Amino acid sequence: AFVAFEGADGVGKSTQIKLAAEWVKAQGWEVVTTREPGGTKLGQSLRELLLEAGEVAPRAEALLFAADRAQHVAKLIVPAVNSGKVVITDRFMASSIAYQGQGRDLGAKDIRDLSMWATGGLVPNLTVLLDLDPETALERQQTDETRSEPDRMERAGIDFQRKVRGEFLRIAEGKDTWMVVDAGLPVDEIAAQIRLRLATILPV
Ligand code: C5P
Repeated sequence: AFVAFEGADGVGKSTQIKLAAEWVKAQGWEVVTTREPGGTKLGQSLRELLLEAGEVAPRAEALLFAADRAQHVAKLIVPAVNSGKVVITDRFMASSIAYQGQGRDLGAKDIRDLSMWATGGLVPNLTVLLDLDPETALERQQTDETRSEPDRMERAGIDFQRKVRGEFLRIAEGKDTWMVVDAGLPVDEIAAQIRLRLATILPV
C-alpha cells in the first residue's frame, strides 16, 4: 500500500506519520517512511538546492520537485510497494499542485500533468490531508524548538500559506481516496481517525 500525508507547513505531518508508521508496523506490516523533497540520494541534493538556493524561477522549481518525485517513485516507492511494504510519504503530488500550481501560479492542470508524467501515473491508495488555519500552523512552527531556522519556502508569508491550504482542500474535495483531518484536534484523536482509515486499505 502507498499512503501520502499532505498539508501546509506546521500542521503536524511528521508527528502523525511517526504514529501511523508505528501502528502499521504493530499490525505486522513492513513500513517505509519517506519524504519529498529528499527521499533519495538525488532527492536529498535537490532538496538542498531547492531550500537553500536564492531565487528559483517558478518553472525551474516545479521541474526540480518533479525530478525529485520521479527518482523517489522509481527508486524507492515502487520497489518497496512491489515487495509488499507499506510506504508512507511526507508529501506527494498534491504538494506540487498546491505550492507550485497555486502558490506559484503555474496552474493546477500543468503541474498535475507534469507530476503524472514524472511518476508514470502512480497515485496513493490513501492521501491524508492535515488541515489547519495558517495562523495556527505558523504559531506552531515558531514554538517548535526542534525545528531549524525557517527555510526559503517557509518564509513565503501568510497569504501564500492561505492559498496553499485552499488548494489542498480543493484537491481533496469529493475524492474517496482522500481523508481530511482537522489538524487542530489533539494529537491522539487525529492519530485514531487516521488508524481507522488505514485499517481499511492495509490489505492493498
Ligand atoms: O515538508 P517539508 O518541510 O520537508 O518541505 C520543505 C519545504 O518545501 C516546505 O517549506 C514546503 O512548503 C516546500 N515545498 C514546496 N513544494 C512542494 C513540496 C514542498 O514548496 N512540492
